[in-house]
Amino acid sequence: MNYLLNSLECTGACIPGLEYLHMMQQLVWEPTMVDAMENLRDRIPICTWIGENIDAVNTELNLYLQACHGCFHAHERQSIQIFAAPLAQSLGIDGLCNIFTNPITILIDVGRIAPEDWLSIVVHEYAHAHLGEFGHNRRFATILWHLCIGLAIEPPSWEPGRESELSSWPNCQSTVDPLALWRGESILDFGF
Ligand SMILES: [Zn+2]
Repeated sequence: MNYLLNSLECTGACIPGLEYLHMMQQLVWEPTMVDAMENLRDRIPICTWIGENIDAVNTELNLYLQACHGCFHAHERQSIQIFAAPLAQSLGIDGLCNIFTNPITILIDVGRIAPEDWLSIVVHEYAHAHLGEFGHNRRFATILWHLCIGLAIEPPSWEPGRESELSSWPNCQSTVDPLALWRGESILDFGF
């Protein structure tokens, strides 16, 4: 995927926005996983919105990360970083956890899910990060259950053969247009 924008097109807040996306691409195992550039028309508004708003969004996500940390004793906590990033639509995922970076990286596509469910998706990815595992097995269920109870989210049940339910737990409400927020069309107010 070619991220090179005409420098005359990408000015002002667009430039740090583009740099941010490049930085996010270094945190996944396949750079094209971070991608909001499929639609040429949207590249400039998306980079500009990121340049202007991403710090506020990441501040919010870090609060949720701290809430998850709060469910564990300090010595049990993994070293984890969290960022918002638009993930390739073809992946069809709301978040991911890269256990191969140090610190472990959680990326959340905040455009794909309703803001009231951002904590839920952070909780799911945090459980992967805490275990350093991708699987939705019994260990995952135990950690996810612990987090849900601690954060007043409906906890999952675990039964053999029902791992697929864990892969989408807690349930999150999807947005109609995953790129609307990234284009700056949402009416989210981060207090700025
Ligand atoms: Zn998962």
